[in-house]
Amino acid sequence: MPPLSAFRCAIIAWTCLLALAGCADSPDIARIEHRVTRIERSAAAVRAHQLRQRWAAACGQDHSAPPPAGAGLLPHSLPDLEAWSRRALPEELARRVELLRRDALLAVVASDPDVARLEERAANDGTGVAWPALIAARQRAAQQLGYEGFRALWHDAQGVRPGSTDTLLEALDDATREPAFTLVHALEGELGRRPTHADVVERKARAYAILDGALDEGGTLGRALETLAAMGLTLEESALEVHARIDQGGFAAYPIDPPRDVRLVVRSGGGLANQHGVLHELGHAVFYTAPRGRVPAFDRAANRFVAEGVAKFFERLPFEREWLERIGAIRSEASGSMPHTQPEFELLRARELLGRLRFEQAAYAAGGRDLDALYQSELSEATGLDRGADREGWRALTHLASQPFSSEEYLLARLIQCQLRRTLRAHHGATLLDPAVGRALRESVIAPGARANWHELIEKATGNPPSFDAYLEDELKLGERP
Ligand SMILES: [Zn+2]
Repeated sequence: MPPLSAFRCAIIAWTCLLALAGCADSPDIARIEHRVTRIERSAAAVRAHQLRQRWAAACGQDHSAPPPAGAGLLPHSLPDLEAWSRRALPEELARRVELLRRDALLAVVASDPDVARLEERAANDGTGVAWPALIAARQRAAQQLGYEGFRALWHDAQGVRPGSTDTLLEALDDATREPAFTLVHALEGELGRRPTHADVVERKARAYAILDGALDEGGTLGRALETLAAMGLTLEESALEVHARIDQGGFAAYPIDPPRDVRLVVRSGGGLANQHGVLHELGHAVFYTAPRGRVPAFDRAANRFVAEGVAKFFERLPFEREWLERIGAIRSEASGSMPHTQPEFELLRARELLGRLRFEQAAYAAGGRDLDALYQSELSEATGLDRGADREGWRALTHLASQPFSSEEYLLARLIQCQLRRTLRAHHGATLLDPAVGRALRESVIAPGARANWHELIEKATGNPPSFDAYLEDELKLGERP
């Protein structure tokens, strides 16, 4: 018989704990609450430790900190917790346990010894060599916990109803396929050959060159902070550490112990891409540092789709004429000639994200095999572009290691961003750079934290269930759908 792994031991320990709690005829609520709090603290410590490590790695600092004390308390098997808590606990505590269960699900997978080792390698070697094995290990860990696969577990951890995002994304796929292929076909006629992803990147850079040049290097962070201030959203300075990275890695926000300890890694430099990046991460910081009163630690964690939608809302502001005039140090007369958002680039971006999502789904279903062939076929199929020329392919998708299915989050963030913007414009008139807009965002979208399901939160905040209609009409200019 093989020795019990740490993973299995932990499952057994947690199962015993559940059995103890379930055996009590009349559960002592205070005792259970105390236990939940202890587990919360333990899981939060593990999560903070992981985030600190990632932050340190992104800054090129030493991250060999010792593991947090009490890590052994982390719950490692939670399939019965929801049913048990409904039976045994009052509503408020049951809700807390449900949030704990969701948050702990991901911690359980991340603490599987294979997954932990491969995640560390995938995040640090940058070659993608560990990724196929990491995908297979995550899939296996999810199946051990009784899920069909890792995506089903991932959705459960986000509080996503099974199949609900698939329905939305299929509608987006249907509505964008023909327009995108028509566009790529026209580009092919112009170039006299099948266009590549690099052709699109180059055209986009040309289209945005004026705007790019107008956003000088020294002003990037200042403009972003001024944007928040115009919306009445001030950040607690003590809560935020901004670190300018020196390598070419991406931007990131780490909610290490929100709202008190939130850290951002941003690239220094000017231009549109950096302005988008800094605004995006500050959007995350607004979410993480928002005061939410005395609530359990797990209520402070944002729903990922909503947090990403809010970050995207801020990121997109440099395409608004009002932003250029007020923040971008551009004269009103000049802003008339500025290129604003270009629907065709956004259309191709949406197709690319759909292709990436299909790639990730197929990669998990195949247990991580043949990633090169999968990537090329899924991306070519989704975009109509020649992807054979991509040098790095899926290896350039650094999110794969630490943030699986990020393409799904980015697509749903577009839905949320556009649906929110449409509502805010309807209620607050011409300008988005107004304290009333910041207040509305805070109250209806940011304050609920993870307590509300994303679907219900968006429906309540905008008066309509989530749909890609606003994205298709306002952003892609595809007009009314049948
Ligand atoms: Zn983000």
